[in-house]
Amino acid sequence: MRSALGLMLASVVAAIVIAGVWFWTSSPRADAAPPQTTAASQADPLPVAARQAARDDVDTTAALSKRADATQAAAPAAAPAPAQVQAPVAAAPKCANPDGLGISRTVVVDTTGGPGFGFLQYKQYDFLTDHEVVLTFDDGPWPTTPTVLKALADECTKAVFFPIGLHTTYHPDILRQVAAAGHTIGAHTWSHAHLAGKKITEQQAKDEIEKGFSAVKLALGANPAPFFRFPALAHTPATTAYLGTRNIAMFSVDVDSNDFKSKSSDEVINNVMTKLDKEHKGIILMHDLQKHTAQALPTLLRKLKAGGYKVVWMKAKTQIETLPEYDAMMAKTEKPVASGRPIGNVVQTVAE
Ligand SMILES: [Zn+2]
Repeated sequence: MRSALGLMLASVVAAIVIAGVWFWTSSPRADAAPPQTTAASQADPLPVAARQAARDDVDTTAALSKRADATQAAAPAAAPAPAQVQAPVAAAPKCANPDGLGISRTVVVDTTGGPGFGFLQYKQYDFLTDHEVVLTFDDGPWPTTPTVLKALADECTKAVFFPIGLHTTYHPDILRQVAAAGHTIGAHTWSHAHLAGKKITEQQAKDEIEKGFSAVKLALGANPAPFFRFPALAHTPATTAYLGTRNIAMFSVDVDSNDFKSKSSDEVINNVMTKLDKEHKGIILMHDLQKHTAQALPTLLRKLKAGGYKVVWMKAKTQIETLPEYDAMMAKTEKPVASGRPIGNVVQTVAE
């Protein structure tokens, strides 16, 4: 009994020493931190189904912990405080496709101060290594989104989605499918307004940003990630400063699929692969609302795998705190076509 007690005491002391040494060797930084690789899910207030799905990557990333350590050493990453390290989660079932593209590593973004990603506009954090890509999808949720989700699930990989607030009121169920599949969900304004337009005021720009996040929250029943992409990538000093005060990360792009202009799925695939041949890595911009993108994705993901590209999945260290006044505004918002029924099914001319 006494020796068992001694053993327990020794274990506790050893744990404290290890934690102490680890904390001492880590050097937390106060500035807006770039992403850091993680092997386990951080605090993430998504529904249970989403949390389960989000754990699918744990095996993959844990197996790559050596590489993750090397990456952390190379990047000026902030170390998490010991209190934020969570107990290991139960092993999730392995992906059904052993040859899938998968996730090579998961990075957690500390969005303090509003860091920017994507070298087209923000060149501060070069966290991707050669042949690493981040998959991002804008403008959903839309009836094409489930096809995108299936392609990603078939390849056991994950992406970041930037939904339009108004679209979440049309298809909240589809947005919940995105969450249930474990993807990261940010926001892309309320109505896809061009926030660098001459006529838009600072207040209107703020409203667009905040209503977008609150609309996503309303659909999900949980706070989204503090990840934001400007419609048409149109930012201004005032809007980027505002996002900074709200600790919201800004996403630009490295590889534009130009899918909204593409006339076929082949064109989308060619655009991405040709640009990757030049850039060798980067954040890829696509739109889950584009039919050609949804159709292209199974082949595109196969080509990425064949080309030796690896997917880095970005998630947030902490979720955004939406503003109560905008949550209230969204809760009152009339849902113009909440049923999703075409107008011809709702209002029919029977006599002229
Ligand atoms: Zn957009």
